[in-house]
Amino acid sequence: MTAQIIDGIALSRTLRAQVAADAARLQAAGHRPGLAVLLVGDDPASQVYVRNKVRACEEAGLHSVLERHPASLTQAALLERIAALNADPAIHGILVQMPLPAGLDPHRVIEAIDPAKDVDGYSTLSAGELLTGLPGFRPCTPLGCMKLLHSTGVDLRGLHAVVIGRSNTVGKPMGLMLLQAHATVTLCHSATRDLAAHTRQADVVVAAVGRRHTLTADMVKPGAIVIDVGINRDDAGKLCGDVDFAGVSQVASAITPVPGGVGPMTITVLLMNTIESAQRALARA
Ligand code: NAP
Repeated sequence: MTAQIIDGIALSRTLRAQVAADAARLQAAGHRPGLAVLLVGDDPASQVYVRNKVRACEEAGLHSVLERHPASLTQAALLERIAALNADPAIHGILVQMPLPAGLDPHRVIEAIDPAKDVDGYSTLSAGELLTGLPGFRPCTPLGCMKLLHSTGVDLRGLHAVVIGRSNTVGKPMGLMLLQAHATVTLCHSATRDLAAHTRQADVVVAAVGRRHTLTADMVKPGAIVIDVGINRDDAGKLCGDVDFAGVSQVASAITPVPGGVGPMTITVLLMNTIESAQRALARA
């Protein structure tokens, strides 16, 4: 079997065209959607991520603000900036790029963001809304994975989905979203005994670990759908995921590549959440 490639770039292109149309409509109504991205410190990967997010905003016609702060920024000064953006009517989404430098408390920082502008969906309120099935902002990466899964036409009801990784930003919300789609969900993590015994039973595997070759062909049931969230470098320095793509694509029925799978969808969902926030602000106006 040679797997169908689930193309995150193509799906993103389609969805971002809709984002651009929505942004133009909102702008015509005097509500241009705006996203503020805060980067603290000079982590090289974070610099690339924030640049890509701001560029995507510009391409889709959203207003964007990129604030760069030195790693020496105090917690109080960061909270002050967030308060100012909370009060800014031109800003509908606030994103603080993680990880933060040592000395800054990510939980306090995230909780300082107005829940109405929490387009990353990381706050405890947004997490609670996801847990209880209430409407709210969903974390961008797992929602992007759900959109990639839906794009294959698969009906997740009753399927067995195995998520490898249980972070608050990817693994846990991914498990909840799959559960809400009526899959039977197993969450695996670093203390899981015999990971392969779980993945071999899965109709859907989502790998979100951050270690290459976490999922190899012998660990995958023939015909399974595989979503690769991981971002790693191979020995040659090339970008790769958690999944041994060459091997697993011979066993799976569909698979996301790295790059070109989950990554672009994460940014696309961020834009969609910002549009949704602007639409809600317009409805409240
Ligand atoms: P994280 O917070 O480091 O979580 C990694 C998870 O993997 C943890 O739950 C950990 O278990 C689990 N794990 C570690 N070793 C394992 C093993 N041998 N077997 C099974 N599980 C294991 O990372 P994250 O933020 O969730 O991100 C995961 C990966 O996705 C990273 O490569 C990250 O760069 C990438 N990512 C990509 C995007 C994108 O847009 N493409 C977005 C976000 C993240 P414990 O909980 O027991 O430690």
